[in-house]
Amino acid sequence: MPAVTPAPARRPRVVVLVTGTGTGVGKTWWTAATASLLRAGGRRVAARKPVQSFDPDDPAPRDADVLAAATGESPARVCPPHRSYPLAWAPPMAADELGRPPITVNQLVAEITADDPDGLHAGTAEVMFVEGAGGSRSPLAADGDATTLAGALRPDLVVVVADAGLGTIHAVRAAVEGLAAHPVVVALNRYDPGVALHARNREWLETRFGLAVVTTPAELAASLRP
Ligand SMILES: [Mg+2]
Repeated sequence: MPAVTPAPARRPRVVVLVTGTGTGVGKTWWTAATASLLRAGGRRVAARKPVQSFDPDDPAPRDADVLAAATGESPARVCPPHRSYPLAWAPPMAADELGRPPITVNQLVAEITADDPDGLHAGTAEVMFVEGAGGSRSPLAADGDATTLAGALRPDLVVVVADAGLGTIHAVRAAVEGLAAHPVVVALNRYDPGVALHARNREWLETRFGLAVVTTPAELAASLRP
């Protein structure tokens, strides 16, 4: 009888939920860049895109492909093929329109934390990134959004990616409102310290609204040290 090796703990050491103020704000770029930096530093990283929707006529790589390239996983591990919807709508709406079964938050959580047959990442990764779809209040499943997913996943950190320029204060304050139960950091995308408005937005977020802010993936990666 073969020796029984205890299974590694299923939950990765650090779970980071990446959401944002809306769609196209840089969630995937931040996730891939931060994961790449950690991996280059010898950390075991994993990424999950629990649902993705896309325009099938758009030649751009899908989020799961970008994230898989950063972590060294397969795209199908990052986003299960049955959670990939070829219609650029909010995923539960796309599922409905395409005649596919409704998505529930519990299903997504189960898939995110499922055992990894190749044993490389899930359960043994030191850092697992989970990228939502759209903004923190965009529908992610028939029964919830990224704030619902955060409640179920209990991440160690929620990253809220936001544009750095005009409109940022409102967008960030609205996006973090449902995330008060979690540690949050705001990642200002394309932040340029030489742009006075970017610097002022950062200052206001930190001092007036008490939010932690990072402006580079290196800063975010450093905050994820064990
Ligand atoms: Mg994305």
